[in-house]
Amino acid sequence: MKKRDFLIVGAGLYGAVFAREAARHGKTSLVIDRRPHIAGNVYTEEIEGIQVHRYGAHIFHTNDQRVWDYVNGFARFNRFTNSPVANYRGELYSLPFNMYTFNRMWGVVTPAEAAAKIAQQRAEAGITEPKNLEEQAISLVGTDIYEKLIKGYTEKQWGRPCRELPAFIIRRLPVRLTFDNNYFNALYQGIPVGGYTRMVANMLDDPRIEVRLSTDYLSDRGGLSAAAERVVYTGPIDAYFDYRLGCLQYRAVRFETEVLDMPNFQGNAAVNYTDAETPFTRIIEHKWFEFGRDAQGNELPKTVISREYSSEWRRGEDPYYPVNDAANSELLQAYQALAAQERGVIFGGRLGEYRYYDMDQVIARALEKADDVL
Ligand code: UDP
Repeated sequence: MKKRDFLIVGAGLYGAVFAREAARHGKTSLVIDRRPHIAGNVYTEEIEGIQVHRYGAHIFHTNDQRVWDYVNGFARFNRFTNSPVANYRGELYSLPFNMYTFNRMWGVVTPAEAAAKIAQQRAEAGITEPKNLEEQAISLVGTDIYEKLIKGYTEKQWGRPCRELPAFIIRRLPVRLTFDNNYFNALYQGIPVGGYTRMVANMLDDPRIEVRLSTDYLSDRGGLSAAAERVVYTGPIDAYFDYRLGCLQYRAVRFETEVLDMPNFQGNAAVNYTDAETPFTRIIEHKWFEFGRDAQGNELPKTVISREYSSEWRRGEDPYYPVNDAANSELLQAYQALAAQERGVIFGGRLGEYRYYDMDQVIARALEKADDVL
């Protein structure tokens, strides 16, 4: 086999961007993935004319001009704006936390009234320096919203009490005293027309890139590594080292996907079930990412929904979310020290770096690394 410049383990966003940049610099890559498809967890698949997000909803959003220009080189983006609805025991609330949410929760009408209500609840809780997710949430939006819209959802998603979770997780969500249901504070937002799989396929479409699927690096690393000068590894960092220092913790997600013979199930792409009793965290109705229409603009008669169940990851399952608490961060540092000694191997991406990255951050990291290496 002809020796390539890079063996890229994982055909997700990090791997695809890196391979593309390498190709632009005249370098060759063999991109492998243990799954039978490209695109990692952003993989989409068409069912009944609808792009189904097989590994969970992905809404592209970024403030990074370079990243936005970059992805627009591989896909056209629609004007989708994420505005999830929270369902708490049948009461519906707007997300993220904004004037519509505060009005529904407390009947307040003006931003001053909402701010006063939050300040009062924060004062009653007596939190000055939030040290965990619970304290951070209460100090941002007060106890009522914490109890109805955050606690149940977060504890289902992470399988841990909010007091044991890092505060940064909840700071992902904006809090606004305006009537604005846009979930993200991002300059640019949208969904690639035709799906993420096509976007990633376009990234990988270069004569200097070969893709080989259903190929597991960890079960044949000697043979595969010999095929290239350097390795870009985007799998779990602890798996690379055979878990020799112990397992990092991840959350796994399972999806129950159904095709329904009706045009409209819930009227929105995402409905979060924020109580503790409902076993799933949210239901995604995929057609609303594309306004319920096919490529020709026709309304679609059926719909596809996915219920999302969260659980603790076990070996052999697909990891989704790194659990960036203190214990895992310490173990991560130990693995990073091993990784630093691994000559000719670059660790990248959500799993390779064990970071709760959004898509745009993964792409930015891959571009920076490519700038560096190439
Ligand atoms: N969150 C919440 N209630 C919601 C939605 C989100 O409490 O209805 C919190 C929860 O702690 C979650 C975090 O906000 O882990 C980040 O949510 P995001 O939607 O960014 O998570 P992702 O889409 O990455 O799963």
